[in-house]
Amino acid sequence: MRILFVCSEVVPFVKTGGLADVCAALPKKLHERGHDVRIVMPRYRAVDVAKFNLLPLMPEMKVRYGGDTFSGEVMRTSYPGTEMPVYFVDLPNLFDRDGIYNASNHDYLDNDRRFACFNMAALWLLKGLDWQPEVIHLHDWQAGLIAALLKHHPEVCTNEFFTRIKSVLTIHNLAYQGNFGPQLVGDIGLPWSIFTSEGMEFYGRASTLKAGIVYSDIVTTVSETYAEEILRPEYGANLEGVLNARKSRLHGILNGIDTKVWDPATDTLIAKPIHAASGKGRAECKAALQELCGFPKKPNVPLLGLTTRLTGQKGIDLFADAVNTLLTEDVQIVVLGTGEERYENLFREGAHRFPRKFAAKLSYDETLAHRIYAGSDIFLIPSAFEPCGLTQMYAMRYGAIPVARATGGLVDTVIPATIERIEKGVATGFLFTHYNAGAFLEAIHQAIHLYRNDQGHWDKLRRNAMARDFSWDRSAVAYEGLYGKALAL
Ligand code: ADP
Repeated sequence: MRILFVCSEVVPFVKTGGLADVCAALPKKLHERGHDVRIVMPRYRAVDVAKFNLLPLMPEMKVRYGGDTFSGEVMRTSYPGTEMPVYFVDLPNLFDRDGIYNASNHDYLDNDRRFACFNMAALWLLKGLDWQPEVIHLHDWQAGLIAALLKHHPEVCTNEFFTRIKSVLTIHNLAYQGNFGPQLVGDIGLPWSIFTSEGMEFYGRASTLKAGIVYSDIVTTVSETYAEEILRPEYGANLEGVLNARKSRLHGILNGIDTKVWDPATDTLIAKPIHAASGKGRAECKAALQELCGFPKKPNVPLLGLTTRLTGQKGIDLFADAVNTLLTEDVQIVVLGTGEERYENLFREGAHRFPRKFAAKLSYDETLAHRIYAGSDIFLIPSAFEPCGLTQMYAMRYGAIPVARATGGLVDTVIPATIERIEKGVATGFLFTHYNAGAFLEAIHQAIHLYRNDQGHWDKLRRNAMARDFSWDRSAVAYEGLYGKALAL
């Protein structure tokens, strides 16, 4: 099958969250399985042309938006370690900036035209290549508009080259909707007839995510539980009505992880390789993490880790509350994250006051992320909502036991511990249901209790977690099935 991935971030070129991991691992897996898969993304300033060997492909690219014309070019490379082509839309006026979506935590004011132009360019470059995908796989609001362009843009929908192409939209997080002023519709050349509540109008704004939901042939999201949750007002972010209307085309497919990049047995970023069955290597990884954090190197003190964007979604308030109590106990805690200033300040201050038990690493640091998964005993994920979540999977694969809120993909990946389920080999972590610090603390204490008092079962729990298969194989097959379904429509 010929499949084009349209993504706003792809690891290792640029990453702000799990989206970038998925937009690399899934196409790679499909490519490995024999499909003609290609990726297109913007060429941000952060994409290193020399390091990734980006070569000129189409020297002239022009995109019209409102009264303006943006010029640039298309570059190309192969995804590292593969022959899979990756195309970069290089429109310097729009993408040659310090940030990806924002600068100093403020979204760029022209994100509508930045991503609308990227979407339009992604389509026309196919014509330039004379490569016609059967399916275009769109990721989040940054690519959602393509579904509307394919169905309604007068120059696209009447062009024979595009008419048979099917689109699949994956929603990685419904909270990010790409809602902009209505002028977006006219500026990109879409007809005003689609600016209705059945179309891409959303409370008076033009929503690129809604455009994707309404106009793609198939809609997916990243776990089965989240696919059900978003049909309800608590999780639907005001789009539950639209999603219910497209329910027959909505599917939940759990993300996988790249098991080659995230392999504790071969990972060179961690202090020692970790052997899944025996747990050999974990003690050294823990000691190394303790040293890095400035904690006493005590092997038996539970070390709790958290790696996340510091935003409300991730349950940082709950974490901050829980930390207050935990710091009166004999534990060590490390948090790695960047995000809202109030959280960063709070954690900076906490680390200053409790340097021997609380470390705050307020940066984006891929290496340290690996070291935290490898070195902590317990990994915390108190999310208010979590479409899929990757960190719990990385943690389990590296032998850190997750304590997570029972929501979205966390429900689908963390099997809560009872002695019986541990012994049967199914349990992999701890879950709590109610979104409050008390419930979170109770679950953490359950984990700490087992860790301290029942080494045999703790060790078995760790082996269960490390043995879980989170590879993309199964999900890639599910996507193939959906692409097939789209083609049959
Ligand atoms: P989301 O996409 O909502 O941020 P996910 O759990 O799906 O959440 O993915 C988060 C990804 O970002 C993981 O790969 C995690 O390791 C990584 N990550 C988050 N914060 C940091 C950080 N400060 N440094 C390094 N990696 C981080």
